[in-house]
Amino acid sequence: MKTIKAGLISLLLFATPLVAQTNPDWHASFPAFKIAGNLYYVGTADLAVYLIRTPQGNILINSDFPEDVPTIKKSIEQLGFKYSDTKILLISHAHGDHDAGVGMIQKETGARVMIMDADVAEVQSTATGRPGAHVDRVLHDGDTVELGGSKLTARLTPGHTKGCTTWTMQVEEGGRKLDAVIVGSPNVNPGYVLVGNKNYPRIAEDYVKTFAVLKSLPIDLFLGAHGAYFGMKAKYEKMKSGGANPFIDPAGYKAYVSEREAAFQKEWERQKQNPPSAAAR
Ligand SMILES: [Zn+2]
Repeated sequence: MKTIKAGLISLLLFATPLVAQTNPDWHASFPAFKIAGNLYYVGTADLAVYLIRTPQGNILINSDFPEDVPTIKKSIEQLGFKYSDTKILLISHAHGDHDAGVGMIQKETGARVMIMDADVAEVQSTATGRPGAHVDRVLHDGDTVELGGSKLTARLTPGHTKGCTTWTMQVEEGGRKLDAVIVGSPNVNPGYVLVGNKNYPRIAEDYVKTFAVLKSLPIDLFLGAHGAYFGMKAKYEKMKSGGANPFIDPAGYKAYVSEREAAFQKEWERQKQNPPSAAAR
């Protein structure tokens, strides 16, 4: 019972916008900081936004909600960079906590928006809470995004959304090349239907594929769409006290992926035993 409860609580932490709106970290500002090389954190206390600095302008990953955009802008300026230098805008996946502000940032900076094929319709949607952005480039699994000598690779890690994207890149720090992995999301949200899902029949198989991809990636820097995935706040504190870069955490990454995979498998088993009612689909 205790473990079920703990599982539910951890699920709630990564829950749908409606539930997690209550997480005070979502809209709380957080100091901007350098993760490694030309990779920076400019998100809120939980909704991660990454900035990749290049001589030809900057790449942003994630927009958060429109109300968070001024906070992101302030963070970029705190680092001494210009918001208007944002040339390319990417996302982790098409949920409001990562993409609702995309249209706003696109309008304010003129950044080119590049989105994984299966998430494009969501990002272009003008329904309430959706970004209503113009997608300039449609991405496919394995595509690369390049600017000013930096190269990111888009890995399709579907399930959480159909076009959920894990971004990988190499950054150079102190003469060492580090493999960064920005996890899109491995989470099965409350209410997700894994068995008999009419809108997304392959959802469970997609999660299986996602865990295989995540386990195959070379990893030094463990990052993700929410700070909570990788213990951002604690690692930031640790970083301030000096020593080895705490974001270099391959063991933490592996443990996280295995734990999330076990949580998915458990939920999938549960739904196979007790299929969600037709109404829930
Ligand atoms: Zn999500």
